[in-house]
Amino acid sequence: MTRTLGTEALAAARRYESEIVRFLREIIAIPAESGREQARCERVKAEYEKLGLGGVRFDGIGSVVATVGDGPFVIMMDGHIDCVGVGDPKSWSYDPFKGKFEGGRVYGRGAVDELPAIACMAYGARLLAERGVPPGVRVVLVASVLEEDCDGYPLMHLIRDEGVRPDVVVLGEPTDLDVYRGHRGRMGIEVVTRGVSAHGAHCERGVNAVYKMAPIIADIEALNATLPVDDFLGKGTITVSYVDCKTPSFNAVPDECRIVLDRRLTAGETPEQALAQIRALPHADAAEARVLSWDGTTWTGVSAHQEQVFPTWVIPEAHPLVQGVADAAALVMGRQPSISRWVFSTNGVATMGRLGIPTVGFAPGREELAHTTNEWVAVEDLVKATAVYSLIPHELAKKLTADSSQPHQTPWRSRGAEVRRRTCDVTRWTFVVSC
Ligand SMILES: [Zn+2]
Repeated sequence: MTRTLGTEALAAARRYESEIVRFLREIIAIPAESGREQARCERVKAEYEKLGLGGVRFDGIGSVVATVGDGPFVIMMDGHIDCVGVGDPKSWSYDPFKGKFEGGRVYGRGAVDELPAIACMAYGARLLAERGVPPGVRVVLVASVLEEDCDGYPLMHLIRDEGVRPDVVVLGEPTDLDVYRGHRGRMGIEVVTRGVSAHGAHCERGVNAVYKMAPIIADIEALNATLPVDDFLGKGTITVSYVDCKTPSFNAVPDECRIVLDRRLTAGETPEQALAQIRALPHADAAEARVLSWDGTTWTGVSAHQEQVFPTWVIPEAHPLVQGVADAAALVMGRQPSISRWVFSTNGVATMGRLGIPTVGFAPGREELAHTTNEWVAVEDLVKATAVYSLIPHELAKKLTADSSQPHQTPWRSRGAEVRRRTCDVTRWTFVVSC
């Protein structure tokens, strides 16, 4: 294929530039922390409908879903709709909910993480529909809720509970227009020590639970220095992220101390091993360690629950999904994108990490700006990303044709699953899903 298609796609996307920018600014201006996304979801649904996308609906937990094309090969394109809070508003030099537009950039909470994907995927789907969806292909667009609270949960719901069966997944987490193919996993772990309370004036009569925790905290700091490094994904890490204690009063010896640990798992580390490491710390004899659970409520009123285990995942660079998305990017940008990985976690922990569905990421915006008080995205990158999203189905369809000696779905998916098994054994936490 020549670059002509890429040039045409870019020109077509540019015709929608002002509408993409307007839509992005409007959704930035609607606050939507996890579980409180209703107004923004309704706005996105209205835009999908205006663009003429098919099957526009809310799923059972409130994510917005639409489809283009009706083939058996399903490409899911996901952008999460929720954002983290803004912290102290005074720490922002502009209103985070205004969708400030200046100097060719759009600013605000979500301007990187990851509302550009919502806007660009919607307009990319529109361009795709105008150009014609390749035979045999269907794109399922998802603007997913709750990602910031429990990454993976919304796609787990859509796939496991609602029967949407993607063959491949494209994530809209920021990649600065490169192609990302994995990231470290993560876990939330809590450690509790117990003591005996006593009056502060007779503290020698008590057993201070905080003092029992202190050497464990030092053990954890020492453990972090010993965790393995993977050349591609980076280092496994652990850090204390929260400390709390229970005490009858400020004049008493605390009888319980609790810490929470943020654990990042690199290639080759399993959740089971990570938990066992904590239980084996030199001073952990008297402590209890367990995986944290997450409980939330969706804006539609559904109770949500999941253990805080988010598996590591990597897909090989040679996988046709990685290559197809890279080809689409190269057609538009006239250069090969870098193939890299995220430092943070994404909904890929469900699609690739738990389910073995080949997953990759492509989006505008720089990951290191996510969750900061200076989130911005370049308008030029919005236009490019929109063009790339519109071409991804064509490039994947070409790869499928090249693979036509075999039924296409099995090899693509099993290649993903093979990798998942190698990089992370999550047997204790794996959901049973028959795709
Ligand atoms: Zn994100």
